Amino acid sequence: DQVHAPVVILGTGLAGYGLAKEFRKHDAETPLILITSDDGRSYSKPMLSTGYTKDMSTTDLAQMDAGSMGRMLKASVWTMTKVAAIDTANQLIKVGDAETAVHYSKLVLALGADVIRPPIEGDGLDKVYSINDLLDFDDFRTAMKKNGASKVCLIGGGLIGCEYTNDLINGGFETETVDPLGYCLPTLLPEPAGKAVQAALEEKGAKFHFGPLVTAVNTADSGVKVSLNNGDTIDADLVLSAVGVRPRVDLAQASGIETNRGVVTNRLLETSVPNVYAMGDCAEVNGHVLVYVAPLMAQARALAKTLTGEPTEVSYPAMPVTIKVPACPVTVAPPAQGAEGEWSFEIDGNNVKGEFRNGAGELLGFALTGDATKQKMALQKELPPIMP
Ligand code: FAD
Repeated sequence: DQVHAPVVILGTGLAGYGLAKEFRKHDAETPLILITSDDGRSYSKPMLSTGYTKDMSTTDLAQMDAGSMGRMLKASVWTMTKVAAIDTANQLIKVGDAETAVHYSKLVLALGADVIRPPIEGDGLDKVYSINDLLDFDDFRTAMKKNGASKVCLIGGGLIGCEYTNDLINGGFETETVDPLGYCLPTLLPEPAGKAVQAALEEKGAKFHFGPLVTAVNTADSGVKVSLNNGDTIDADLVLSAVGVRPRVDLAQASGIETNRGVVTNRLLETSVPNVYAMGDCAEVNGHVLVYVAPLMAQARALAKTLTGEPTEVSYPAMPVTIKVPACPVTVAPPAQGAEGEWSFEIDGNNVKGEFRNGAGELLGFALTGDATKQKMALQKELPPIMP
């Protein structure tokens, strides 16, 4: 029966495993099943973009395999298992060929986000990689070795594109990075801060093409020729696409669960359907889609209590994001969308302190680069919470 059915978590990323750990702090007995379409190894996703810098291989990055995680969590972890459908009326999920069905008492969607694939033409698309999980990381590393690569063209100069640009430079590779906007991290940083990151990476040898879009990737004598819509071309061995991620909402959508940008939840992380919850990159919590680690940890702590009988709303403090560009460290707390106010800057070379304040002088956001990142703690204290 449904009451004694297990708690089922879909996804074994930081969200799924993070929730399972918190859940076991409150409840050691209730059967717990985690289901993942990957191999279920636990790893820290943010470390993927530091592989060359820290000289870590796929096996170095993998912390524990699925079996060890299962023993630690007193859970069963089903790997390489894609959930095909959820029957919310009968509290059943259907896996694989849909002939296997599992009852749940509570179901948590922790399905993560998919990489956005830019529309690109050409016959070289098999040389275009993206790295969004440990298996992708391994594929990319294998391709780098197999192709004897020395130069990578990156599509996207945002958080992930800039982190990989720096990481590849640290690995001794040449990079050319293309972004249609005007400077590094254009959607997260105000211009002076983004320009500082650009300058620091250029000093290390990175090349940038700001303004154009990549339109085609074709095979060339060795490697690929990347075509831009301003007529320029870039020769490279491989292409790494990093244009952003989009919450995985397909399964929820197909199962009649309300979705918007992400799987819609309230502050209890309840979806529109009873006994189904969502968290992590796939969730849109009370209007917020935040694809970072700090929010999912706050969600895991709150949801573990809710699932074990103590309904707990999630709240978010100010959560500045640290971007791993060692050439020019960055910490940013973007102002809320539509916030009224103005940026002001103190600039000393690549060290930029940007503050976003409203008319009353209250700090609503900041962007720090280089040595200015040392001021993070002081400024963070002044910020209002994202969701009190
Ligand atoms: P995921 O880790 O993507 O997990 C999703 C899980 O769902 C996987 O187990 C997958 O197999 C499973 N799944 C998907 N579909 C199905 C299905 N149909 N059936 C069964 N299972 C399914 N954030 C920060 O805060 N700081 C950083 O410095 C930072 N750096 C980053 C660097 C990189 C390169 C990347 C890619 C991200 C970075 N992030 C960073 C973001 C952060 O890593 C993510 O927010 C976080 O890891 C998301 O965890 P998740 O568990 O929600 O998703």
